[in-house]
Amino acid sequence: MNPARSIRIRGIVQGVGFRPFVYRLAHEHGLAGWVLNGEEGVAIHAEGAEEALCAFVEALRTQAPPAAHVSEVEVQAVEPAGFSGFTIRESERRDRPTVRISPDLPVCELCLEELFDPSNPRYRYPYINCTNCGPRYTVIVALPYDRPNTTMKQWSLDAYCDGEYQDPGNRRFHAQPVACPRCGPHYFLRNAGEPANGDDDAIQRTAGILRQGEIVAVKGLGGYHLACDACNPTAVNALRQRKFRKEKPFAVMARDVDVARSIVELSPEAEALLTSVARPIVLAAAKTELPGVAPDNDEIGIMLPYTPLHHLLFAAGAPEVLVMTSANRSSEPIAYDEQDAFDRLAGVADTFLVGERPIARRVDDSVARVGAFGPAILRRSRGYAPGAVATLPAERPLLAAGADLKNTVTLVVDGQVFVSQHIGDLDHYQAFQAFQETIRDLVSMYEVSWDELLVAHDAHPQYFSTTYSLGLPGAEQIAVQHHRAHVASVLAERGEWDRPVLGVSFDGTGYGDDGSIWGGEFFAGSVKAGFQRVAHLRRAHLPGGDAAAQHPVQAAAGFLAQIEALPDMSAAPFSFPPRYRQALELVDKDVRSFTTTSIGRLFDTAAALLGFTRAITFEGQAAMWVEALAHKSRDVAGYPFPFVDGELDFRPLLLAVAEDRRRGRRQEEIARAFQRGVARGV
Ligand SMILES: [Zn+2]
Ligand SMILES: [Zn+2]
Repeated sequence: MNPARSIRIRGIVQGVGFRPFVYRLAHEHGLAGWVLNGEEGVAIHAEGAEEALCAFVEALRTQAPPAAHVSEVEVQAVEPAGFSGFTIRESERRDRPTVRISPDLPVCELCLEELFDPSNPRYRYPYINCTNCGPRYTVIVALPYDRPNTTMKQWSLDAYCDGEYQDPGNRRFHAQPVACPRCGPHYFLRNAGEPANGDDDAIQRTAGILRQGEIVAVKGLGGYHLACDACNPTAVNALRQRKFRKEKPFAVMARDVDVARSIVELSPEAEALLTSVARPIVLAAAKTELPGVAPDNDEIGIMLPYTPLHHLLFAAGAPEVLVMTSANRSSEPIAYDEQDAFDRLAGVADTFLVGERPIARRVDDSVARVGAFGPAILRRSRGYAPGAVATLPAERPLLAAGADLKNTVTLVVDGQVFVSQHIGDLDHYQAFQAFQETIRDLVSMYEVSWDELLVAHDAHPQYFSTTYSLGLPGAEQIAVQHHRAHVASVLAERGEWDRPVLGVSFDGTGYGDDGSIWGGEFFAGSVKAGFQRVAHLRRAHLPGGDAAAQHPVQAAAGFLAQIEALPDMSAAPFSFPPRYRQALELVDKDVRSFTTTSIGRLFDTAAALLGFTRAITFEGQAAMWVEALAHKSRDVAGYPFPFVDGELDFRPLLLAVAEDRRRGRRQEEIARAFQRGVARGV
């Protein structure tokens, strides 16, 4: 009898076409046995000639489907059972789903070919997908991942789709969202006069409306986008006015990589990120100016089409660079259901391109950039969420509720760390709703019971996320200081539990052990032993508390009050507005004045000294403005930022900025010298 092997494969191997891939591979190598989705991944029994078995195992490792991620292949010799053919077996029933939910995937090459092949039954069908591509997290309502547990359950398969769905040799074998124009959902237009006559007409007309410079709300994978021609300043400005988004950069979608290259500088690393399966928005240096898209910024956030609909829009002649921004009013979560979109976007979008397939949960586009140590993810959402980011040695399920700004939540089940999509700022009612939905969603999907849960929340007593966590019945709670959590999360991603480190956490705002506002902290220790705060930025005043974060000159008053021999800030070139004087008075009289070690406010102060004396319109704006200035300068010597008695002393640093500005040194050079100084100080 032939030898046999038992093979276990772990990683992202379910819902990504892995079993049909194994089936085809087994047939190619003339093997008998079976494959199934097991408790911890894919299980295979294979028997056949020794050489064929070796080649088969090798191919499992090296030829896996594009969306799969094989983390471990375990092979054991077992007794042969004398199978005559190779089959796909029913999934094993599990006690708790530990299967990883795949993030959403961009349309694959094979589906794209079919999409533009007039002889294919899914020619120009915007919902084409297969086991290698398409929606996952945004259509899954419950586990296990089967059609009745998705938002596709209301469309039953016709004979054609069902034939593919049942055929183990087909790329659509058990592709849960499979559909065709005869049995699946469609797109239609709203507010465009005449109703559209089918998907193709709706898409052609949308492309025409975009060419005319109008704004269209387009339903996508995880929510609505507001789209307009990025090269039409009138359209872009109209979008800014209507969206109440004064200056925050808009992301753009380029028709293809060539068009992207004409807009931004694409290093090979940036291009790899842009075309990766997550298809994030990539920040890269702008090559051309798109007026109004990213004011005062030398970078543009760019992405490529990732759904069949996007490809169809460009093929129908939509402008080759589109603004594609989350459809919401400033800072609210992205709109994802029809009524919500129609209510909230009335007056923003001229027309709606609406798809019938419901979205199970809102998922924004991800934002990433190439950093000094590889890709850095700034907003982890579509394409990444809810992938596991780490493995924790945790015996019980954990929920980490996150902070109030740019919130995400994390659930740890059986040691797997699942980070949610980006949720937003919880002081917006809609975001707070989304926060609660996301927690309920993850907890129920992984069948975790509330009373076995340990809930980690921010130490800030007034955060919405904190009060919510403390109100959870049955669960046990633990408060974690904000900046220690930042350091610990970096180590967790690398699986470093014992390693002693010096962790530097630079931030805008976080509640400190002493109740003051931290944000420039140095910790020594390890995740297991805990972190001691060993150094920090010299303390400054924060006149007016949180409001100071909105006005760089107000933050500046808290820092500059400590500096002697400062030039007159109300005179040129500084010309600080009266708000500065008023803030100084608060500091002098010690009214409504708090204490801070925030690096964010230090950067705001530098921005104010360099000329950013108005209010900011989005978080981080002043620091980004300083960064963009610094990019324009050649390398210069850094300003002094001495470390004395456990404190980084900002006084010489800021005095140097002020003096050079008064002397008329170029702002770009000052910004650069400031940043060099901070780096050297660290
Ligand atoms: Zn596909
Ligand atoms: Zn069909």
